[in-house]
Amino acid sequence: VPGKNSAKPAPAAPPDKPRNVLIIYVDTLRADHLPAYGYDKPTSPVIRKLAANGACFTAAHSAAPWTFSSTASLVTGLYPAAHGAIIPGVVKNELEKPAVVELAPGFQTIAEHFTAAGFKTAFFARNGYLGHGNEQGFETYRNAKKPIKAGAQVKLALNWLKQQPKDAPFLLQVHFIDVHTPNDPTVASSKLFPAVAALDEAGRKLASRYRSGPKDEDPPNTPEFREQRKGMYDASIRDVDRAIGTLLKGLGKHRRDTLVVFTADHGEELWDHQALEEALYSDPRGQRGVGHGHTMFEELVRVPLILSMPGFIKPARIDAQVSLVDVLPTLLDVFGLPPASNIDGRTLRPLLDGRTLPERPLLFDSPCMGRDKQGILLGRWKFVRSDSEPDLLLDLQSDPGETANVAALHPDEVARLRALLDTELAASRARGDGLRSATPVIHVMDADELEDLRELGYVK
Ligand SMILES: [Zn+2]
Repeated sequence: VPGKNSAKPAPAAPPDKPRNVLIIYVDTLRADHLPAYGYDKPTSPVIRKLAANGACFTAAHSAAPWTFSSTASLVTGLYPAAHGAIIPGVVKNELEKPAVVELAPGFQTIAEHFTAAGFKTAFFARNGYLGHGNEQGFETYRNAKKPIKAGAQVKLALNWLKQQPKDAPFLLQVHFIDVHTPNDPTVASSKLFPAVAALDEAGRKLASRYRSGPKDEDPPNTPEFREQRKGMYDASIRDVDRAIGTLLKGLGKHRRDTLVVFTADHGEELWDHQALEEALYSDPRGQRGVGHGHTMFEELVRVPLILSMPGFIKPARIDAQVSLVDVLPTLLDVFGLPPASNIDGRTLRPLLDGRTLPERPLLFDSPCMGRDKQGILLGRWKFVRSDSEPDLLLDLQSDPGETANVAALHPDEVARLRALLDTELAASRARGDGLRSATPVIHVMDADELEDLRELGYVK
């Protein structure tokens, strides 16, 4: 009889399956700036613990290098070729009025699956490029019009949670914008990063973004400025990390039976590939060296993905290459909901159970700046092609930093991957046939939205 000779009752056995799901969605967070992914600076103790106690996917990739298309892939389990939620045109429009093709109502989102299954559902967001159909299915959707700090976003989410009926399971998605430019980390976090700890107000303002105004030139490209920018980025991660700690604590009794999914829509380039991009890409609408939306390099498409529920998810580091299109089928599988038919993603449950899955290619598509391009990752090789730019072949095994374009050295690989990319894109596109609107709904940003996107650095 447990507890016979002890004053304390035996702890309750952990639940055998999750009841709720919390999706923590950090905008612009590259995986390699987290200690959980090997980073040597103190950006994220809370996330580190979450990763240590959960399943940490070390090679998770987003389907697009920017918010809107990537989020549409997360919520539908489909690549951009299928869902069509992209910026229209062959050259993506940075200089004129931006527009997006909205996610068509025919697609079934994570929120729609869970709302249909009786879950209370809410999404707290802050980015003009997040909605436009991605919010479909959420009973509550708040996309802040003005910048909102991670702590305030958590308060909104926890307030919502308090108001939900006690017996109803929930799907809660909380999005954080702090890591996205313009960065404005707290003093407490800034102190932890020497490059920004000593900055005065003017220095902080300059280092908060790559460009300081609509007509300004590219940044002062000095080593000092680069370190300051990285420091502002890192200190902002620390702010989000602290808020995630508050959010997890705020779950209270729900923490033990809530599956936490931690991920990001895409990463951020911090001068990782400036020279290579200048050699490859000439279109003035594709920025080079900084920000996101313009390439398929790892700093933009390799994102964190952690699933945590102690007692249900076995702690593990999982090195298999997976995509954010896999999140939807995994959640449906774990929660025992009817599987989605005809999607690009597949359930990661076998990996969570310590088994393996057959290798399969991952696709990247739909940048938001510069010329349209598509990429494919299969094992050690990444291949990226564009209509009028040089082919790019990268060997991630011998060159994990993606420093050299080896397309000319491996014509057979280029031919094989190009053919596979075409086949895979066609298969994906076919999955969205009949679901994409016959006449795509193109949303052109109005003056307010434009101002907001300018603040976020998407337009000059
Ligand atoms: Zn984003």
